[in-house]
Amino acid sequence: MSNAFDAPHFQSQEGAREWLEKTRWPEGPVCSHCGAFNHAYKTKKPGWYRCAEPECRKDFTVTTGTVMERSHIALNKWLMAFYLMSSSKKGVSAHQLHRALGLDYKSAWFMCHRIREAMRPDDDPGTDPLGGRGKIVEADETYFGEVEESRKRTKTRYGLPYTKGGKSGPSNKRAVVSLVERGGRVRSFHPATADGETVTGIVLDNIRRESRLHTDESRLYMFPGSEFKAHETVTHSHGEYVRGDVHTNSVEGYFSIFKRGMKGTYQHCKEKHLHRYLAEFDFRYNNRVALGIGDIERTINAVKGVDGKRLMYRQPY
Ligand SMILES: [Zn+2]
Repeated sequence: MSNAFDAPHFQSQEGAREWLEKTRWPEGPVCSHCGAFNHAYKTKKPGWYRCAEPECRKDFTVTTGTVMERSHIALNKWLMAFYLMSSSKKGVSAHQLHRALGLDYKSAWFMCHRIREAMRPDDDPGTDPLGGRGKIVEADETYFGEVEESRKRTKTRYGLPYTKGGKSGPSNKRAVVSLVERGGRVRSFHPATADGETVTGIVLDNIRRESRLHTDESRLYMFPGSEFKAHETVTHSHGEYVRGDVHTNSVEGYFSIFKRGMKGTYQHCKEKHLHRYLAEFDFRYNNRVALGIGDIERTINAVKGVDGKRLMYRQPY
């Protein structure tokens, strides 16, 4: 039986660099400083190029300006980690990478977050919304894990808890709002509170108005719902889950993958990192087998996301 890790790019630093160059630069090196395409020459230092643009002349490698820049972890281990995180449905924890790749735990932990960052879409909110003419977008919210102590609500502390299905809601749980285009992509959010104003903003910014919006009976969607071609609901509190083609099964399916993964793999996720984990689960869902994307292509898509994201890691975690 052939092993995925037999591929040359998992074997050595050199093999990994060659593969990365072919994947990121299929038609020649791109200067990470000025963007010049295929106008650089190799230097004596392996993997290093010098930009031939007279105003630039800077040196770069295939990892300059990426999440892998200046990492002391060998590139083939990076690619193994990309592969493991891209190919396992529930994700891979820093502990698993620490053991599987022989890295110290802290390095493995940073590596996981950097790979998540590569998986995060780099489009600005509001660009390339979901849905469109003849399409259905399902929206729903769920709650996962406790909010940080300082944000906990009490009777004397701000406001009423938000509600789910008309009942008093899980006010001290972390809210997640997800939008799923049926048969297509997901986009997830972790707002500080899933109140009417926040949810309205998320829904209106991220779904095309020509879409049909499917939700449960929650009041959160009533106001933004009127903006769409149709807003159709199923009444979960009355045991109604499907009516014709109206349902929220896709978004609920997404939540169940997310929750199983979080419980099984990432039990101790801090709230400030939750949006990163959502980006990871969104990425795998948006590159899933049902959309014709296998493990290798999914890994390549994750690796291609490394462009221009290095600055993000200067923030303290
Ligand atoms: Zn340049």
